[in-house]
Amino acid sequence: MKILIINAGSSSLKYQLIDMTDESILAKGIVERIGIPGGKLCHSFGDGKFTLDKDIRDHTQAMGVVLEALLDEDHGAISSISEIAAVGHRVLHGGEKFTASCIITQPVIDAIEEYIPLGPLHNPANLMGIRACQAVMPNTPMVAVFDTAFHQTMPKKAYLYGVPYEFYKKHHIRRYGFHGTSHRFVSARAVELLGFTGKESKIVVCHLGNGSSLSACVNGKCVDTSMGLTPLEGVLMGTRSGDVDPAIVEYIADSEHMTVGEVVNFLNKKSGLLGLSGVSSDMRDVWAAANAGNEMAKITIDIWAYRIRKYIGAYAAAMGGLDAIVFTAGIGENDCRARALILEGLEFLGVKLDPAANDSTRAAEGPISAPDSTVQVWVIPTNEEISIARDTLELIGK
Ligand code: ADP
Repeated sequence: MKILIINAGSSSLKYQLIDMTDESILAKGIVERIGIPGGKLCHSFGDGKFTLDKDIRDHTQAMGVVLEALLDEDHGAISSISEIAAVGHRVLHGGEKFTASCIITQPVIDAIEEYIPLGPLHNPANLMGIRACQAVMPNTPMVAVFDTAFHQTMPKKAYLYGVPYEFYKKHHIRRYGFHGTSHRFVSARAVELLGFTGKESKIVVCHLGNGSSLSACVNGKCVDTSMGLTPLEGVLMGTRSGDVDPAIVEYIADSEHMTVGEVVNFLNKKSGLLGLSGVSSDMRDVWAAANAGNEMAKITIDIWAYRIRKYIGAYAAAMGGLDAIVFTAGIGENDCRARALILEGLEFLGVKLDPAANDSTRAAEGPISAPDSTVQVWVIPTNEEISIARDTLELIGK
């Protein structure tokens, strides 16, 4: 049983073909620069790689290129499209309608379209991916897996903003949260690995990548998360500012002669690690600069860790306790110095790091807390594609 996973962006399309008998990746790749001159396919299969330079008009042509690569005698992974049992699509925004993944039907497509104002960059791209697949594989079932769905269990006190309630009623203005597929995968794995199956658990998941968010999970269900109406809210990220006083928008607009849209774009794309350090949005580069004595880079890392630490404290208070902290995504899985810095000063909560375990745990599951730490601290690599594939398989009922 083979499942194709599609993650469509506005000018890119990522894919993975997964064999569900053992959840192995048969092939994966990305089509870049869709609709822009200089289109490119980078495809990998087993130990091999294949690249193709070709201008690609739109997502439908991109899907055609992907299928050609998957069917190729030399670098492909299947001999017929019918071997693909279903396609799982990552979709950013499911608003309040989707609390779980679902089979894609016309009403589902209509709802994803309806939520375009909430996900103006991603939802149209996700829809292009879905329509492109439907065009080239009209008989294959498709499933939508939403980034927002896992957070739909948040109570009103966590998801409503302190703005007039009619804005929520009229315009759906509330906190939604993102990275839900990752938070769901990692929190479920934590419950299993840390011995909380069938027991009560209070876990904070720290998804720290280029985009970063934290979630508070009680008994496997999300009760709060750091991203909001859009992914801009929360902790400091690669290029996003995270939490700011909203009045900053008007102030910057006036001082820098920008429109509101330009300021929000600045807060999304030119802020965070990049904007503060002036070095890079990539944590490895910021560390390298800090190690070389760059003061602003050092302060940036301090601010980054401090804000994550504050969220962990807030979530312990929100949940009325804390059993575990789990780190995942690029920084969370690999960067032991960043993890140690975040946890500094959390001893009062019962957090005690095992420095040797922390230093040696990279991109692998394992505990990094000391045996006598009352809060377990773990690294659990995320796997959004497997999570999407599992949902897809379950929903097509094979
Ligand atoms: P995305 O949100 O784009 O999926 P990732 O989860 O891949 O991002 O995380 C990217 C971040 O992870 C970058 O800031 C990068 O520096 C960081 N990262 C990746 N590997 C390492 C590593 N070995 N050490 C420190 N940071 C790392």
